[in-house]
Amino acid sequence: MSLIRVLPDEVASQIAAGEVVERPASAVKELLENALDANPHQITIHIEKAGQRLIEVADDGSGILEEEILLAVARHATSKLRSAEDLFHIATLGFRGEALASIASVSHLTLTSRPAQSLTGAQVRVEGGSTGRLEKIGAPAGTVVRVEDLFYNVPARLKFLKKENTERQQIDALVTRYALAYPQVRFQLFHEQQAALQTSGNGNRREILASLYGVETARQMLEVIMEEDDLRLTGFTSPISVTRSNRREITFFVNGRWVQDSALAAALLQAYHTLLMVGRYPQCVLFLEIPPEEVDVNVHPAKAEVRFRSSDRIFSAVQRGVRRALLSSSMAPAVTSTTWKNTGTIFHPFPDSPLPAEDFPSEQPLPLIHFPPTSTDFPTSSENPPPQAETAYPPQPSGQIPLLRLVGQIGGTYLVAEGPDGLYLIDQHAAHERVLFEKLLHSLKNQVPSQALLTPAVVTLPPQSAAALQEQLPLLDALGFQVESFGPTAFRVLALPSLLARMDPGAALRVVVEDFEENEEPLQAEKEARLAARICKRAAVKGGQNLSFEEQSALLRDLEACSQPRTCPHGRPTMIHLSVDLLERQFGRRGSR
Ligand code: ADP
Ligand code: MG
Repeated sequence: MSLIRVLPDEVASQIAAGEVVERPASAVKELLENALDANPHQITIHIEKAGQRLIEVADDGSGILEEEILLAVARHATSKLRSAEDLFHIATLGFRGEALASIASVSHLTLTSRPAQSLTGAQVRVEGGSTGRLEKIGAPAGTVVRVEDLFYNVPARLKFLKKENTERQQIDALVTRYALAYPQVRFQLFHEQQAALQTSGNGNRREILASLYGVETARQMLEVIMEEDDLRLTGFTSPISVTRSNRREITFFVNGRWVQDSALAAALLQAYHTLLMVGRYPQCVLFLEIPPEEVDVNVHPAKAEVRFRSSDRIFSAVQRGVRRALLSSSMAPAVTSTTWKNTGTIFHPFPDSPLPAEDFPSEQPLPLIHFPPTSTDFPTSSENPPPQAETAYPPQPSGQIPLLRLVGQIGGTYLVAEGPDGLYLIDQHAAHERVLFEKLLHSLKNQVPSQALLTPAVVTLPPQSAAALQEQLPLLDALGFQVESFGPTAFRVLALPSLLARMDPGAALRVVVEDFEENEEPLQAEKEARLAARICKRAAVKGGQNLSFEEQSALLRDLEACSQPRTCPHGRPTMIHLSVDLLERQFGRRGSR
């Protein structure tokens, strides 16, 4: 009794087909790739019942010679590969000669084709793997492959198909991405005769991007263009403001082929490292072109994975290309302004080459709130420059700062960061003050985070302060305090703003009450802002406090998000910018040769 048997052809091909054609979208992918290999101007796809009833892909490409039509549907018959040697520099999408045979073994497939130079076309029909007779037929130049009743003879496979909607989305995602990869080809996709996607074939990728992401997001996507020797990376990647909760929108094409490569994705994520919140992902459609011999495409049945010969180089290129797009986007508005170079230099630390005063715009918008620093007896004040130092700073340019790459912390007090335009030294205390201040002002509109005390504290104030506080109780409410009067000069503190939660309630009250004792009568809103600034000053990290790398980079990201990142709420600078230009002059790299 023999146990080992050679499988009947039919079963063998169905097994093979299972690897290539897993679901309708994979059949569409194979047919699409065949069409693209034929250099068409146009590809039209008709789908019915999410590909289960019908997948028809028509192109106006090279076509198939009549005498080769039967070969085309035979297993391991291909026009794209001649020897094993060819496998190492594949320039076409197909090469195994398997797809048509595989699809035909699990469907009713009709192949019709006519090369432009032939007078008549030819057609063959394959029913579940058995090939019919070749027929001459009138046909437009190009090729039409019609796949009906996919998996009709593989009920197990049918059972595993996802909901029609899901399968349809897979097809749409696939076709849209290929349309994007081949913008010079006119794509049309129909479901049940209804147009789902139409591209013009005019080569404009951003137009097609809109069908993938919607107009608004498409407009925001950053263009990536990088060329290095024989490597070219193009496409689009999201700005840090556009994120996803998963990696599904990370798309890479390598030499015109859609690949799922976790290492390429990792390179992309590396480029966004520290720029996105944990658990958020960028989206991109990137096209990598490298010499065919640099990549092995023959490692996966559906050709979805590839292997690079010099992967390090590729990954670093992807990372740099994307990072560059991110950095240049963040400085884009500033670059266009001629004042950028100078206004970027907030503080000129080198007195022997002073910038002319008019280099600083005289009409910059005021910081959100700008008032002279009050002399305080806070312990922190000793860490700040003495009051008269304030005037030594030139007027503060407002406006956004570019994306910064954190280098580290020095002296436990300053952060060092690199921007596209030079070096930044950031005062961690001033920066944090600014960050907290903007957050607090923002939450004033809704609800300032507040923390109830476990046991209410009773604080007694000097009569004058008590009277001032009494008047301002409603204002304190808005800022997250919960304070009620408790006798003529005593107050009961029930809750503190979260920012001050760790302080002794008496000290927290004094933080605000000192402000009230000043004699002038500021406007309500200004009072609020002033109070907010005092709270933030108190809550901000101090100079001389070591921060973890995570804390440093979180601070940097928060600062980048501020509307007035360059000054603290008291108007002092949060940063000193040493522009590339300045560095080059100081090092005598420019002008002295
Ligand atoms: P492969 O693409 O790996 O060569 P396929 O089974 O997908 O294998 O296709 C077999 C052959 O049929 C191809 O090599 C090509 O010569 C021909 N062919 C298939 N589709 C088309 C098409 N749309 N236009 C021109 N030729 C095609
Ligand atoms: Mg093929």
